[in-house]
Amino acid sequence: MTTTLSISYDDVARAHERLAGIAERTPVMRSATADALTGATLHFKCENLQRTGAFKIRGAYNAVAQFTPAQRAGGVITFSSGNHGQAIARAAQRLGVPALVVMPQDAPAMKVAATAGYGAEVVRYDRYAEDPAVIIERLAGERGMTFIPPFDHPQVMAGQGTAAKELFEEVGALDMIVTPLGGGGLLSGTAVAARHLAPACEIVGVEPEAGNDGQQSLAKGEIVRIDTPRTIADAAQSRSLGRHTFPVLQQLGVRVVTASDAQLVGAMKFFAGRMKLVVEPTGCLGAAAVMNGALDVRGKRVGVVLSGGNVDLPRFAELIDG
Ligand SMILES: *Cc1c(COP(=O)(O)O)cnc(C)c1O
Repeated sequence: MTTTLSISYDDVARAHERLAGIAERTPVMRSATADALTGATLHFKCENLQRTGAFKIRGAYNAVAQFTPAQRAGGVITFSSGNHGQAIARAAQRLGVPALVVMPQDAPAMKVAATAGYGAEVVRYDRYAEDPAVIIERLAGERGMTFIPPFDHPQVMAGQGTAAKELFEEVGALDMIVTPLGGGGLLSGTAVAARHLAPACEIVGVEPEAGNDGQQSLAKGEIVRIDTPRTIADAAQSRSLGRHTFPVLQQLGVRVVTASDAQLVGAMKFFAGRMKLVVEPTGCLGAAAVMNGALDVRGKRVGVVLSGGNVDLPRFAELIDG
């Protein structure tokens, strides 16, 4: 069955116009060592160098910028393991809109501090015991705030697709584009951009081995829900794809593979040692799959989105010290 998808390429293109001067056009980096290792030509899109340290500012700003005057006055509310919260806080600050972010108690200290630093109010919860949706609904109702979720929202998805749009504009058509996968905001936006700008390009999402709900969902043809996976990829601990993201992935022929925590650590070491890049564990998902033979990349031109670089330095040191 074919349903109308929640976003089109026009939505991605319009989001890109809105983001001018707000989101950085991040660099695309190459590595002769990574090419030799994989037999592919790899183009790394460095969203770890994006403002707020991850691609999430793209979707967050695109959504809050479209608020009505009444919504702007009421403010924006969201929940996040960190990067979306920071992005919403920063977008709201830029637009002069109040923001409230509900964050897990075990979110990295740096992410919590950055969110509060952008002027947002932060409320903590226990991610293994409480449902953030319930907390959000109560607070949004009490305060008249508009909820912008981390991935399952057309304007968020369209904004996230602008990273891939920039990548294709810079390096031309690719044989394959690979991104991390949590709830599918980044991957759905990427898929829409890819299908328009490079119709033959294979589109691949990579999720943590500990939580392959996306892979299961595409295999089953319906959204599969899992318990919160325990993985170092803290920005991809979503429990299911969304009702907006899933149909996009399904209908645009996206494929999903997984990477283990050990492979993520290996990729983090590679980026730090060889390319002088700090990439957070979740940001390494795509690269880890490409570098560990989970995908047939030999002889291909492959785009790999490094989605974020927000990791506490002591945690980073601990992970790469082995
Ligand atoms: C949010 C996030 C992801 C996952 O994005 P989804 O849109 O939820 O699939 C991947 N990497 C980083 C760094 C993130 O912040």
